[in-house]
Amino acid sequence: MQSKVLLIYTGGTIGMMQDAKTGQLKPFDFKHLTEQIPELNKFDVELSAVSFDKPIDSSDMQPQVWIDIAKLIEKNYSKVDGFVILHGSDTMSFTASALSFMLENLNKPVILTGSQLPIGTIRTDGKENLITAIEIAAAKENGKPIVTEVCIYFEYQLYRGNRTHKYNAEHFQAFQSANYPVLAEAGVHIKYNTAALSKPSTKKLKIHSSLNPNIAILKIFPGITPQVVDAILNAKNTTAIILETFGSGNASTQKWFVEALKKAIDKGKIIYNVTQCNAGAVEQGKYATSAAF
Ligand code: ASP
Repeated sequence: MQSKVLLIYTGGTIGMMQDAKTGQLKPFDFKHLTEQIPELNKFDVELSAVSFDKPIDSSDMQPQVWIDIAKLIEKNYSKVDGFVILHGSDTMSFTASALSFMLENLNKPVILTGSQLPIGTIRTDGKENLITAIEIAAAKENGKPIVTEVCIYFEYQLYRGNRTHKYNAEHFQAFQSANYPVLAEAGVHIKYNTAALSKPSTKKLKIHSSLNPNIAILKIFPGITPQVVDAILNAKNTTAIILETFGSGNASTQKWFVEALKKAIDKGKIIYNVTQCNAGAVEQGKYATSAAF
């Protein structure tokens, strides 16, 4: 039976065109996208599409849009076999991460993709990204979807979405998943890394749409001042702080710094120790500089 895939267009370079006056890249209407890729009509997949009324550059992404996407997926969940979300690459990893936690018990593919060059340009990477993302969203084995998680497909590689970050603003290979293997590679064939794919859930999809906006990131650096640390730790209503530390979770041992953290914790704030490194992980207590944590 033909697979059904729903395309959700949020915006991003893939669907942008150059403003004639300013030369800046601005999102355009979704119908131009299908005009640009006539191949979409040749697919052995039943494609349907929804476009956001106002497509956005993903730098304008907001948690409310994640909620809208999650609800759209919930509404169409029983009608289609998989989802492809067209999204700007700048915050694609954030959206993929958020959706992976918001869509509990997912057992269908949700594939985010986009491009570094607009789809209308000759050297665009958008066509391959979109076409293969649709193939992955439609792929089944023994009547069951092969992928049952939120992924990013970009430049011949399928990644677990919440393990990625955008690391390159120039290369077509814009994403990395430093701490988790690639889930599939697209060459002549799409080769799935079955052992690395998440196992499908047997439970009913559950959407989490209540998000706490009161979080902050505190990225430390040599010479950071008490004023900056204080401003972030004590920002009004903040309930959780992601502390971006050095190496395996290390930070300054200066008394004022440790005390500022302790005070915030005593006030009931949650502090997560996350490394600034792209690969590896936090190991508190490995060095004396993380012993206080
Ligand atoms: N600024 C664009 C966006 O994230 C870049 C891209 O699409 O790759 O929407």
